[in-house]
Amino acid sequence: MALSGLEIYKQLPKTNCKECGFPTCLAFAMKMAAGQVGLDKCPHVTEEAKANLESASRPPVQLVTIGTDANEIKIGNETQLYRHEERFHRPTAVAVRVSDTLDEAALAQRAEKIGCLSFERVGTTIKVNLVAVDNESGDPAKFEAAAKLAAEKSGLACVLISARTANLQKAASALSGQRPLLYITDPAEAEAAAKVAKDEGCPLAVRADGLDALAELTPKITAAGVEEIVLDPGTRDMKSTLEAHTQIRRLALKSFRPLGYPTIASTTSDDPTMQAVEASTYIAKYAGVLVIDAIEPWQVLPILTTRQDIYIDPQKPVAVEPKLYTVGEVSDSSPLLVTTNFSLSYYSVEGEVEASRVPSYILSVDTEGTSVLTAWASDKFNGETIAAAMKKSGVEEKVAHKKVVIPGFVAVLSAGVEDESGWSVLIGPKEASGIPTFLKNQWKP
Ligand code: SF4
Repeated sequence: MALSGLEIYKQLPKTNCKECGFPTCLAFAMKMAAGQVGLDKCPHVTEEAKANLESASRPPVQLVTIGTDANEIKIGNETQLYRHEERFHRPTAVAVRVSDTLDEAALAQRAEKIGCLSFERVGTTIKVNLVAVDNESGDPAKFEAAAKLAAEKSGLACVLISARTANLQKAASALSGQRPLLYITDPAEAEAAAKVAKDEGCPLAVRADGLDALAELTPKITAAGVEEIVLDPGTRDMKSTLEAHTQIRRLALKSFRPLGYPTIASTTSDDPTMQAVEASTYIAKYAGVLVIDAIEPWQVLPILTTRQDIYIDPQKPVAVEPKLYTVGEVSDSSPLLVTTNFSLSYYSVEGEVEASRVPSYILSVDTEGTSVLTAWASDKFNGETIAAAMKKSGVEEKVAHKKVVIPGFVAVLSAGVEDESGWSVLIGPKEASGIPTFLKNQWKP
C-alpha cells in the first residue's frame, strides 16, 4: 500500500541536512511518496526505519517475475478486489501443460504448437505466455530433458511442476538463467524447494491444503530467502478454488502478509468446454498463473479473449484513431463505409470487409470510443459529425462517386447525413457479419 509523505516523514531523521539533495526531510518525504526518489538517497535513515518503510510500502500482492528478456512476464502487484474500482494491472499468465511422459517427438510437437498460440484481436496480440512442464513420470532425467525441449521448441518461459525437490533442481539447473517458475506440489517438500529456488534465483509456487496451512508455510519460504512466491491453496474443484482465490485476494488487500502473493490455478475438467469455463472463472477471480490442458486454437482463443476483456481499463474506452482507413487495393470506385472509433466496432467492420475481398474505405468517426448505438443515443454519431469527419478525411478527393454506407442500426440518420454531406446514403447491414454479402450484392459505385 502506498505511504503518504507524512507517514514517510515520521520515519526520517528530521535533521534537514540536505545530503539527499532536498532542502528538508519533509520535501524528500513528499518526493518519495510521489515515487520520484528512493530511500537509498538518504544516508542517515536507520535500519529500523528502512525495514518499516520497506515492509509498509510493499504492494499488497507481491510482484513476481517469471522468465527473462522477451519472455519475461510479471504477475501480482494488484490493488483491487473489484475491477471497476480502478482496474486489474497484470494479466493472468496463461500456461499450457506438457507432460514429461510424452515421447520426444510428441513433446516437441506439442511445445511448438503452444509457442504458436497467438492471435490478433481488436488490434492487439493476445497469446499464451508460458509452457508448463509436468513431471508426471516422476523421473528426474525425463523431467530435465522435457524442460529443455519444451523451452526450446515453444520459445516461452517455463513453469516446472513436480512433487520432488530433487527433480525440480535438475530441471531448474538445465534452464539456468531462464528464471522458470518452480512449482512444488508436495507441501512437505516446500521448504527444501525454497532452497533450490533461492540458489537458482527463481520464483517458487507452493501448495498447501487450505489457507491456514498456506499462511503458516509462506513465512518459512521467505525465511529461506525467497520473496517471490505463488500460492496454490490445494483446491481442485471450481467452487472451492474460486472461494479460496477470492479469500486470498481479500486477505492480501487487508495487508495480511502471509497471503500477500499471486495465486496459481489449474483446469481439471476433461470436457473441453468446461475447461474454458474453469479457465475464464479463474482469470476473473484472481489467478496470477493459470495452467490449462487446452491447446486447440478454438479452445484457447475464448480464454485469452476473457483475459483481454478483464484486464483492459474499464474507465477508458478502447478506441482506434478516428480517421480514414483503407482495406485492400482501393480505387476511386471503392465503397466508403462509416463506423465509430470504438475498437470492437471498427475491427468488426474491418474484419468483415477483409473477408469480403472488396477493397474499401472505412471512415472511423470520433465518438470518444463509444459503439454505434451508444454514440447515436448520446448524439455523437449524427449527420453533422459524420459529414464533418468525411470532409476532414479528404475522402471526396479519393473516390469518384458520392455514396456512403452507414450502419443499418442507425438508418434513421440517412436524411441527416445526406443533408449535411450532399452524398447519397446506402443503408448497410445491422450486423458487421452482413457486410460481405452487402458489398458483393448491393454495392455499385
Ligand atoms: Fe533528511 Fe535524510 Fe535528506 Fe538529510 S539526507 S535532509 S536526513 S532526508
